Amino acid sequence: MAPWFRGSITRDEAEKLLQPREDGLFLVRESTNFPGDYTLCVCFNSKVEHYRVIYKDRQLTIDEEVFFNDLTSRVQHYEQDSDGLCTQLTRALPRQTRATQQQGSKFRDISLIDRKELKIGDSIGKGEFGDVLLGEWRGVKVAVKRLKDNIHAAEQLREEASLMSKLTHENLVKLQGLVEEEGSILLVTEYMSKGSLVDYLRSRGRLHVTKRNQIMFACDTAAGMAYLESKNVVHRDLAARNVLISHDDVAKVSDFGLAKSAPATRDGVKFPIKWTAPEALRRNIFSNKSDMWSFGILLWEIYSFGRVPYPKIPLADVTKYVENGYRMDPPENCPTEVSKIMKEAWLLESDQRPTFKEVLRRLQEIKATTPV
Ligand code: AMP
Repeated sequence: MAPWFRGSITRDEAEKLLQPREDGLFLVRESTNFPGDYTLCVCFNSKVEHYRVIYKDRQLTIDEEVFFNDLTSRVQHYEQDSDGLCTQLTRALPRQTRATQQQGSKFRDISLIDRKELKIGDSIGKGEFGDVLLGEWRGVKVAVKRLKDNIHAAEQLREEASLMSKLTHENLVKLQGLVEEEGSILLVTEYMSKGSLVDYLRSRGRLHVTKRNQIMFACDTAAGMAYLESKNVVHRDLAARNVLISHDDVAKVSDFGLAKSAPATRDGVKFPIKWTAPEALRRNIFSNKSDMWSFGILLWEIYSFGRVPYPKIPLADVTKYVENGYRMDPPENCPTEVSKIMKEAWLLESDQRPTFKEVLRRLQEIKATTPV
């Protein structure tokens, strides 16, 4: 990782770190006001100037005149010439040692894996960031997410890794560590041999997926989400495709570090409209309650054996329908109490939706009466 890149620290933290204030001493951080963009912080005349670095059309720019493919070439450019900045960049803030890294850096908890210890095999899936590969690390099977060559995705992946490393729960996919290679990052997670929940439901269908399986998946997912709720972490992209199934049929929530990805994908075709709460779609308000809306959709996916939600409504019309009060019917044979949770999860007023803690308790009650 470049020495000047400090991840998502705040403006105040950057100013505290940039000492002594010699002209040209600089660092780069993730923008807090504009998720997905970066901020170049540079000392001049004993003050710190903050320049927004815009991520536009897969390139980076400060002035919308000069564009760069990645942060490194941008820094190199301003090291040679101030080109409109208050001063030339002269020296990157030196990296802190571990002992002094108590605050500021959010990468401190991630364990780095030695590339030589990691064997990488075949592709096991395709995700937003690129291929997911099967790997082996210290004799254990792992999943390896390798990046497409794209600086924005690399920062996003670091973001995911740093959040994942701090969150541990039996119903969250465990992060084993990161491999940092020249120009790319590999994210190594526990291997979930039965793949995504949606594929599991679709491939096995109603002949093989039992009522017991369904309520177990619902409980497992709710337990992972209740843990995230207790840590004030918002998932933003909860859906059956982002829940993975282990060899012993335990469901675990994956991709939960992508808190910042939403604005970057909003305009793209990939924005998960059918899973996203109205206030999140319209006003960009994401919360544990917007995750609860998505959880309602996920319950519907579980009990419909992996159907695509709102089957009869064109994607472009879904938001309008939902805002006018339309809600999906519960799938055939869905337990009444589960249907009730779905309905409550889809209340327009987000604060009237239940918490994950409460929903977990209710689902566990249903589980207790579901035959094995
Ligand atoms: P993602 O990039 O997380 O959306 O993953 C894309 C696909 O790769 C998933 O739908 C799974 O089929 C597969 N996959 C991702 N992570 C894992 C994992 N930890 N274990 C097994 N398969 C995975």
